[in-house]
Amino acid sequence: MRLLVVEDDRDLNRQIATALEKAGYAVDRAYDGEDGWFLGDTEPYDAVVLDIGLPKRDGISVLEAWRRAGRAMPVLILTARDRWSEKVQGFDAGADDYVAKPFHMEEILARLRALLRRAAGHATNELVAGPVRLDTRTGRVTVNGAPIKFTSHEYRLLAYLMHHAGRIVPRSEIVEHLYDQDFDRDSNTIEVFVGRLRKKLGVDAIQTVRGLGYLVPVEGDGGSSDKSSR
Ligand code: CA
Repeated sequence: MRLLVVEDDRDLNRQIATALEKAGYAVDRAYDGEDGWFLGDTEPYDAVVLDIGLPKRDGISVLEAWRRAGRAMPVLILTARDRWSEKVQGFDAGADDYVAKPFHMEEILARLRALLRRAAGHATNELVAGPVRLDTRTGRVTVNGAPIKFTSHEYRLLAYLMHHAGRIVPRSEIVEHLYDQDFDRDSNTIEVFVGRLRKKLGVDAIQTVRGLGYLVPVEGDGGSSDKSSR
């Protein structure tokens, strides 16, 4: 999962981005409304944390522009504590949720988990694929109840595929959603990571669909899917 943080307070931006990275997300950062708008308009984020009070272009205008252009990613806005009107404007502009400043980082993390979960159509924080269970709250993965340790990149890949279980995920999409902007991206490394995941999981949870991408089958549908188009 790849997220964007748009916040002009550099300390706060760093705190949020660091917490998100620790939680296993790839994170890009922007410090004003213009840069934030551009990134959100051109990169495929899984969710965005957007401050409302921004230099160059305010958060409401940025959000409206994204929605007008058909950008549908979940957006969590950061509002000033005592400005109820910001929340109303934010929701009307297309926000999915808000957190008022000052906030506890845990709240941002929990709200983003909820947004990502809903966007992918999951009811709970635990993703299940056959014997594999992944808890998005703790980052814990088990196979038949036994915990498995992953590197952060391996975890990101598994979490992304499991979030999109039942759909064939193209390699190019994985690359776009796994790495932040500054990362030297190479879609060949995805194959290597999938190989490592399979080895560590020890079960046949990830299928290769030749020429198309990878698929984590949904229980009981035998690997076929009605959501295979992107
Ligand atoms: Ca601000």
